[in-house]
Amino acid sequence: MGNQFNDNRFSGRVALVTGGASGIGQATGRRLRAEGARVATLDLRAEPSDGLLAVAGDVSRSADVDSAVNRVERELGPIDVLVCAAGIPGASLPTLEISDDEWRRVLAINADGVFYCNRAAARGMAERGYGRIVNVASMAGKEGNPMAAAYSASKAAVIALTKAIGKDLARTGVLVNCIAPAVVETPILDGLTQAHIDYMVERIPMGRMGTAEEVAALICWLACEECSFSTGATYDISGGRAVY
Ligand code: NAD
Repeated sequence: MGNQFNDNRFSGRVALVTGGASGIGQATGRRLRAEGARVATLDLRAEPSDGLLAVAGDVSRSADVDSAVNRVERELGPIDVLVCAAGIPGASLPTLEISDDEWRRVLAINADGVFYCNRAAARGMAERGYGRIVNVASMAGKEGNPMAAAYSASKAAVIALTKAIGKDLARTGVLVNCIAPAVVETPILDGLTQAHIDYMVERIPMGRMGTAEEVAALICWLACEECSFSTGATYDISGGRAVY
């Protein structure tokens, strides 16, 4: 889908998509490629597919992230587009039952991981004077979902670090934005209770979940050259749930 509207929007560009083996990251990688980009994914599993360069690594380990960025730049060329979609929901738990380890696990992947990837990719982008970074936050980061304190906090961190890094890089040609989706139908939901999913769907005025392709369409606009006067911003994609 997509390239009938935006032929070759990413022609000549190199894109790295974390979490690109599944869900939103996978749909984004496919669309970037359909529109002309050379695409690499960084995910826990490296299953080569669709002509993408699949790199295995854990975003919560900065050494994995740095070596993935080096490998992609060596094999595909300088990275123009970074999409940070790797993330975990964490266990659906009331606050009083969240262990230290569970808190740290969710923050390490969802918040530290996005920071490590932004830092690693932004270095070369700033030197070259061009880059687009899109971080995947969540409506939970704006509102705070019950049964999801660690997840909500990690996504608020993504929103805040996007604002800060966007300002740090504002005059370099590197634009850094994030998106805040409401519930989207992907394998991530397998880890949640039905009550947790119902809570999220009930709050969506359009009365349904989003699709990974709908989210990829927004990410790809923020990742393209035409997006030129937005940085540090949070874009909602929520079927009407977000009101500010
Ligand atoms: P998904 O589970 O389908 O995909 C997430 C991918 O991240 C998986 O391929 C997984 O292997 C990878 N990943 C997890 N931990 C990793 C690590 N430490 N290092 C590298 N890769 C890792 O889920 P999705 O719904 O496509 O989620 C993508 C992003 O969107 C996540 O950040 C998620 O929090 C966010 N999000 C999802 C929803 C939703 O309802 N699906 C809503 C808002 C935000």
